[in-house]
Amino acid sequence: MSVTADIVTRFAPSPSGRLHLGHAYSALVAWRAARKNGGRFLLRIEDIDPGRCRPEFDAGILEDLAWLGLTWEEPVMRQSQRMNAYAAALSTLEKQNLLYPCFCTRKDIQREIDAAGHAPHPAGPDGPVYPGTCRRLGEDERAARIAAGEAHAIRLRMDDAVAAAGPLAFHDRTAGTVPVDAAVFGDVVLARKDVPTSYHLAVVVDDAAQGVTLVTRGEDLLPATHVHRVLQTLLDVPEPDYAHHALLTDGDGRRFAKRDRSLTLQAMRETGKSAADVRAEAGFPDDPPAAG
Ligand code: GLU
Repeated sequence: MSVTADIVTRFAPSPSGRLHLGHAYSALVAWRAARKNGGRFLLRIEDIDPGRCRPEFDAGILEDLAWLGLTWEEPVMRQSQRMNAYAAALSTLEKQNLLYPCFCTRKDIQREIDAAGHAPHPAGPDGPVYPGTCRRLGEDERAARIAAGEAHAIRLRMDDAVAAAGPLAFHDRTAGTVPVDAAVFGDVVLARKDVPTSYHLAVVVDDAAQGVTLVTRGEDLLPATHVHRVLQTLLDVPEPDYAHHALLTDGDGRRFAKRDRSLTLQAMRETGKSAADVRAEAGFPDDPPAAG
C-alpha cells in the first residue's frame, strides 16, 4: 500500500456564520488533497461554542459544500456531541498532574497583566499569556472554591507539559520541519468555564479519533500546531502531517470574514453564480470535483 493511499483529510468549519469564499478555498484544498491521492475526505462541525453556533449555519455548511460539488463520508462529526471524549482526554492529562483550575475572569487577567507593568507584556499566539494567578493557589483554596460552585476553566501547566513531552517538531508541506516551541503560549485553556473543552483540545482529540493523516488549514492556525503537537504527545495519539495554506484575500489584500456578506456562497449562488464560477474564484478553475 502506498503512503498516499491512506490519506485522510478534513474540513472543520464552525457553524457561526455562512461559509464564504475563503472557506470554499479551504474545503477545496482538503477535498483535493484527499481525492488526488485516492484518500478520504471528512467533515467535522466545530460547534463547541453555544453562544456563537446556530443550527441554521450547520445546515448551511452542508448545503453550500454539496452545491460546490464536494462529497464527504458520513457520519459528519459534531464536536458538541463529543464531550465524553474530551473529558477522557482531560482525565489523561490530569493523571499526569498537568492541569489546574482557573477562576479568573478576562478582567482579572487584564488587571494582573497591567499590575505586572510589563511593557510590552508578552503575548502568545492565543493572545496575552496567562499570568499564572490561579496556578499559585493552594490546594485548600482550590478545593473550597470548586466546592462553592465557582465557575472555572481548566488550564495546562505548559512548562511541565513541554518538559514531559520532550523535544518535538512537526512537518508542514510548505514550511518543512518546524521545531515545536509551545512555551510561548503559556498556560492555555483546555476546558472553558462555559464548555468543558477548548479549540486546542477538541481539535487534537478529534483529528486522532477521525484518523486524520493530513491536516490542511489556514496559515493563521500554524502557531496553534505547536500546542497541538504537545497535546498529541501527552495523549499518545498519532502525529498528522500538516499543510497550512495561505489565506485567500480580496482585491485589497484583506482576509475574507464573516462580515463580508456579499461573499458568502449563499449570496454568490443567489446572484446567479454557478458552483464552477465559485470554484474558479477560489482558485480551482481546472479542478472541478467529479461527483461521487
Ligand atoms: N474550526 C476552525 C475554523 O473554523 C478550524 C480548525 C482547524 O482546522 O484546526 O477556523
